[in-house]
Amino acid sequence: MLHLGLGSFHRAHQAVYLDALIRSGDTSWALAGGNIRPDMAETIAALIQQDGAYTLETISPAGEHRYQRIGSIRQVIPYQPDLAGLIEQGASAETKIISFTVTEAGYYLDAQNRLDLEAFADLRADLDAARAGRPGATIYGALTAILRARMASGAGPVTLLNCDNLRHNGERSRAGLLQFIGLIGDAALLAWVEAHTSSPNAMVDRITPRPTPDVRERVLAATGSDDPAALMGESFIQWVIEDRFIAGRPAWERVGVEMVDSVDAYEEAKIRLLNATHSCIAWAGTLVGYRYIHEGTQDPAIRRLAYDYVTDDTIPVLDTPEHPCPIDLPQYRDVVLDRFANPAIQDTNQRVAMDGFSKIPGFIAPTLRERLARGEGIASVAMLPALFLAYLQRWHQGRIPYTYQDQAMDPAAAHAICSAADPVAAFCADTVLWGDLAADARLVDALRQASARVERFVAEHPVS
Ligand code: NAD
Repeated sequence: MLHLGLGSFHRAHQAVYLDALIRSGDTSWALAGGNIRPDMAETIAALIQQDGAYTLETISPAGEHRYQRIGSIRQVIPYQPDLAGLIEQGASAETKIISFTVTEAGYYLDAQNRLDLEAFADLRADLDAARAGRPGATIYGALTAILRARMASGAGPVTLLNCDNLRHNGERSRAGLLQFIGLIGDAALLAWVEAHTSSPNAMVDRITPRPTPDVRERVLAATGSDDPAALMGESFIQWVIEDRFIAGRPAWERVGVEMVDSVDAYEEAKIRLLNATHSCIAWAGTLVGYRYIHEGTQDPAIRRLAYDYVTDDTIPVLDTPEHPCPIDLPQYRDVVLDRFANPAIQDTNQRVAMDGFSKIPGFIAPTLRERLARGEGIASVAMLPALFLAYLQRWHQGRIPYTYQDQAMDPAAAHAICSAADPVAAFCADTVLWGDLAADARLVDALRQASARVERFVAEHPVS
C-alpha cells in the first residue's frame, strides 16, 4: 500500500490496523508513504531516522494509557517537488492500493461534487502543471501523475482508498479525479482510470489530536525511548470499508475492520449521533462557560440534552422496521458520550462549535425533516438549533470568549437574524440553514419552545 499524507491520523489509524495484521503473522502487506506537500518536515525526518517506526499512546475514557510501537510503515518517502519517489512506488506492480488522507479541505469540491476552479487557485495551478506533464501539490495532480506512470508501466489495476472524513469519500474523490483528468484532456488516461481503479467509500473514526510536547515526554517516561514522531489518540478506533478492491486487499477483517457492501448506514449514524451531538455539547458548553468538550459532556444537564436528542428523535428515524439499522445505535450513543467525556483528549468547544451554518443543514436538519414528514414530534432535536441560535445571539453581542469561525455564514445575514424583532422567526426563515423547511410553521413553533428552554437552562445553570 502506498499512502499519501503521513499526518497524525494515518499513523494512529490505518497504520495501526496493518500493524496488528503484521503482528498476527500475516506479512503479505506493508505500507510506504509520503506527503505531497513540503510540510511536517521534522516529523518526516524523524520517521525516516526511525525506519518508519514510532510510538502511539492511546488513552481510554477511564484514563488507561497504552503504548504501542507501530512498525507497519516500511518505507517513508521524503518530499520531492517532482514527487519522484511517490510516483515510482505508485507505478510499481507491487503496489495494489493507493490510500490518502489530505484533509477535508484537500478535495476542492462544491455542493454538486464539481471541482470548484473559481474558488481554488491551487487547483488551477495543478491543472496547468498536469497539462504540462508535471505533478502538482493537490491529491488530483499527484494521483494523475502516479496513475499516468502506472498506465505506462503496465503495473495493472489499483484501488484508490480515501481515508478522509468526508461523506461518500470514495465516490466524491473519484468524481473529482475523473473531472480533473477530463479537464487536462487526457482521454487515454481517463479510460484507463475508469477501467483499472476502484474507489470504495470508507468511514473512519479515531480522535487524534495534534501531538503536543507532553506526549513525547510521557512516551519517554513510560517506554524509555525518546521518540520525536510519537503521537497520541483515544483508545476507540473504527474503520468501515466497502469491499470493492480491484487488486486485492489485506485481510483487515481479522483485525477488526468492518468490511461491508455499503457504508451509508455507518456514515449517517456517525453524522447524526457523533458529529451533531458534538456540536450540541460545544454550543451548550460555551453558553454556560466551559472551555472543553469533556467538561460539557460530564455535566449532567448538557449530557441529557445530547442523550435526549439521540434517543427521542434520532434513533427512531435511523432504525425503522422498513430499514433496520445494522448498528446497535443505543450502544453507539453511549460509547460516543463516553469518548467525548475523556479529559485526556482536551478538545475545545471553539474547534467543535465552528461552522454551524453548514452543520445545521448537514447534521441536524435531516432529522427534523424526516420526523416532520412522518408527523412525529421534534422537541428534543429542536434543542440543537435553539442552542445554536442562543450561541449566535451571544456572538452577535460580542460575548463568545473566542473567535467563532464559520465558512458558510454570511456575517451580515447572521447579525440581521439576531437583531430582528423576532429572532426565532428570522432564524427559521434562513434558507442556508433550512432549505425547503425555511419558515415552516411547525419548525418555528418547536424552536420557540426550545429557545425558551435554552434560556432557562442558561439562567439556571451553575458553572463552577
Ligand atoms: P495532520 O495535520 O496531522 O495531517 C494532514 C496531512 O494532510 C498531511 O500529510 C498534509 O501533508 C496533508 N495535506 C493537508 N492539506 C493538504 C492539501 N490541501 N492537499 C494535499 N495534502 C494536504 O492532520 P490529521 O490529524 O492527520 O488529519 C487529516 C485528516 O484525517 C482529517 O482532515 C480528516 O479528514 C481525517 N481524520 C482525522 C481525525 C483526527 O481526529 N485527527 C479523525 C478522523 C478522520
